[in-house]
Amino acid sequence: MPEAIRAVRGMNDILPDESGLWEFFENTIRTWLAAYGYRNLRTPIVEQTDLFVRSIGEVTDIVEKEMYSFVDQLNGERLTLRPEGTASCVRAVIEHNLLYSGPQRLYYSGPMFRHERPQKGRYRQFHQVGVEALGFAGPDIDAELIIMCARLWRLLDIQNVRLEISTLGSIESRAVYRTRLISYLEKFYDVLDEDARRRLQTNPLRILDSKNPAMREILAEAPHLFDDLDEDSLAHFNTLQQILHDQGVSFEINHRLVRGLDYYNRTVFEWVTDQLGAQGTICAGGRYDGLIAQIGGKPAPACGFAMGIERILSLISETGAADMRTVPDIYIVHQGDIAAGFSWKIAESLRDAGFKTVLHSGGGNFKAQMKKADASGARFAAIIGDEEAATGQVSIKPLRETADQVRMDFAQVVVFLKNIYQE
Ligand code: ATP
Ligand code: MG
Repeated sequence: MPEAIRAVRGMNDILPDESGLWEFFENTIRTWLAAYGYRNLRTPIVEQTDLFVRSIGEVTDIVEKEMYSFVDQLNGERLTLRPEGTASCVRAVIEHNLLYSGPQRLYYSGPMFRHERPQKGRYRQFHQVGVEALGFAGPDIDAELIIMCARLWRLLDIQNVRLEISTLGSIESRAVYRTRLISYLEKFYDVLDEDARRRLQTNPLRILDSKNPAMREILAEAPHLFDDLDEDSLAHFNTLQQILHDQGVSFEINHRLVRGLDYYNRTVFEWVTDQLGAQGTICAGGRYDGLIAQIGGKPAPACGFAMGIERILSLISETGAADMRTVPDIYIVHQGDIAAGFSWKIAESLRDAGFKTVLHSGGGNFKAQMKKADASGARFAAIIGDEEAATGQVSIKPLRETADQVRMDFAQVVVFLKNIYQE
């Protein structure tokens, strides 16, 4: 036998026993997003490599070492499997001139690809839901995005997540801070790690995000971006805090929050939990007022966030939410040729009436079929032997409660079951 082919490392199958939870999540977010007036945008999974280089930034983890990029063998185009969704969203908005009709509230959902070291909560194909508000400048929209997250955690019954916020100020104020940070870090040049040294001149703010404990110690005393903040950014940030406060959403200010992508300015935020070990950020975002112009659109402000679905789902299953496995209502067992034909009819009419119905396939005696019915998780078995078929009848056997099996005319089955389900 040839060796079995396995999935690519870090890319997971979502098996039927897990996909019920995914579908529950997908249904929940659909209603949640509609409640805030956000509409779905679907973009291709593959984009020109340049799109990500220009938006995410050359000196970032993603562009330096995490992108799945390749040359199209047929026409030599340089392409990349999307590592995140904002760039594609902005590209599509520009390409189709969506801002022409005014600001847009949009969302996307789907797989993203980053070549990282696979571990719990970190995969090479993972999934995000991203929400983007384009064309809005005011802090009210930053607040809306954060407040809608808080609602989602309530809807999903997720507790123990905390909100961290900060502001990166304007591009100009960041430049001033950059110089100050460089001169502070240069004093520690000898003890900086390799990443930090490399980034010192190219992208020193990224060092603030270092997970190396030795770097964090050095950074504890580093100057704050806050001290160089321009007045407008400060006012923007203060209003955001005021709205969050008024709406009862608590937060902490984290001066070291810089986010892994270059396009952010002003507001940045992360929702973090302690329940997932090192991979504790379940949702992250911020304002990116310069990005639309940076990739060739007419300048317009914007703000958004993305959440990691795998991390959120493991939080839901770890906090013990209900078993989301989808089970049929009725499993039909049948034996004999006449019964087989008859069971088709019953199955279709049960489905017409809205019951999830599995029609047994693969033969076997009644005992074996009943085992399958039980294992399916169905609440009832519908039993059809030749005797039932000959008289146009069905026996309904409850599988989950102690109640008698009852035999009835075909025409009564739907009414009988509907009565039970309405109880
Ligand atoms: P991290 O610091 O954990 O690497 P990030 O800053 O790279 O996160 P973003 O680009 O902001 O992450 O993506 C938003 C969210 O997507 C993250 O908060 C996380 O929940 C999720 N996410 C990011 N990378 C992965 C991954 N490789 N596997 C699973 N989820 C991920
Ligand atoms: Mg990352």
